[in-house]
Amino acid sequence: TIGMLAIDKNGDISGACTTSGMAYKMAGRVGDSPIIGAGLYVDNEIGGATATGVGEEVVRTVGSFLIVELMRQGKSPQEACEEGVKRIIAKNKDKQDFQIGFIAINKNGDTGAYCIHPGFTYRTYTDEGHINNPSASYLK
Ligand code: ASP
Repeated sequence: TIGMLAIDKNGDISGACTTSGMAYKMAGRVGDSPIIGAGLYVDNEIGGATATGVGEEVVRTVGSFLIVELMRQGKSPQEACEEGVKRIIAKNKDKQDFQIGFIAINKNGDTGAYCIHPGFTYRTYTDEGHINNPSASYLK
């Protein structure tokens, strides 16, 4: 999945995501990316989040909506992404060899990213042309 979140000069937030789905997927499979709340969610009063990885797990927790709700409750984007990943892990105690990553942004323009396993990089851009390519922190 390629997920994008943006905040403009007025503080308005938008998001988008696109995916080719999973390799060897069943015909007719619908992943998380086209389901608002799962692969992508934006509430302009709070912030936005988007996901990559095994969509079934993201759908099960309504992951992007969850992260925005956690930010509504006062968590930073980073804390909310970490909690979103941990909720998925808690539902998969026997099988944790899959990847999930979230990115999030809030109304201040603070960003966060977190994933289960290393290897998930993301990019931030600012109006002034500053580009960062951090690696997301990870659980395992
Ligand atoms: N989240 C996508 C899906 O499950 C896969 C991906 O990360 O591209 O369809």
